[in-house]
Amino acid sequence: MGFSGILGQDQAVSLLKRLWANSSKPSFLLFFGPRGVGRKLAAVTWAQALLCRQPDEQDGGCGQCENCRQIGKSAHPDCTLIDFSYQEKLTDTSAAGRLVIDTLRETIPLLKQHPLTGRHSVAIVDGAEDLTLAAQISLLKILEESPPHLKWIWIALDEGRLLPTIVSRASGRVYFRPLEKQILAEILIHKTNTGPETASSLAEKAGGSLERAQMLAENNAGQSSADPSAIKPNEIYSLSQRIARYRSAARARKDVGAFLEELETEALCQWRTTGELRILNQLSLILQTRQALAANITPSLLLEHLLLDLSQPAAGSQIL
Ligand SMILES: [Zn+2]
Repeated sequence: MGFSGILGQDQAVSLLKRLWANSSKPSFLLFFGPRGVGRKLAAVTWAQALLCRQPDEQDGGCGQCENCRQIGKSAHPDCTLIDFSYQEKLTDTSAAGRLVIDTLRETIPLLKQHPLTGRHSVAIVDGAEDLTLAAQISLLKILEESPPHLKWIWIALDEGRLLPTIVSRASGRVYFRPLEKQILAEILIHKTNTGPETASSLAEKAGGSLERAQMLAENNAGQSSADPSAIKPNEIYSLSQRIARYRSAARARKDVGAFLEELETEALCQWRTTGELRILNQLSLILQTRQALAANITPSLLLEHLLLDLSQPAAGSQIL
């Protein structure tokens, strides 16, 4: 599978094909757009094109050779994906909630080495907006000193989150947009074996993001089993554990805010379909918690309260 396999991003794909047609492959690409719309798939596809054993002149990697398959499984020695889980494995600093300079310091010497299997090494930074300012400055220097074999792809939400000097340094900026509902439904049907009806209902609610559609599908599956609640105590508990490790209070607030927003949508959907008083009570709890978050109450405290309130019979919940 080459660039044509990236569905619903025609503009991005045609730019990637134009960049690929250049004999000198760009050393630094920036991919911008919301989560779950194909940015990472495109980065992996670009890496496959660079390292493929039999690349196509127009479409890039074959998707079939040993190199392409290893990259697809994140297991190729010359393709490094730098993100939170990589950082966690490498430096045990997931607590920061940001991609930190130490992660890069550990990685750069490896990237500078000559590629083991081919002409190029590829470094994909996923979530570049999460790089601290120090890490961005340091990476800028590293970009300037990168050996020709090393090709960078940074994936970020938007330009505003990166230093302007970094943005202007890129040899190509590729923009990804939310997926059209129909295309999202087709992807769900073909890649996740979802039935057409469910796929189109998920696509309706997912705001153009495959990631979000899959999350909604998982939630739906969970609801049809033993626990039909809008609020899952185990999810609240695991979020509270996660944010307890953050050093950045703003990051914790942002994550809890996003979580509550999703819960509210979820509860509203359930209330509309079931009309259960229990769900209405939960909805009211979520709204109160959102208000408290807006009033600057500590996020961890809010989650604790939410868990406690859920255990009260008034919340209509026997789920604890
Ligand atoms: Zn290949």
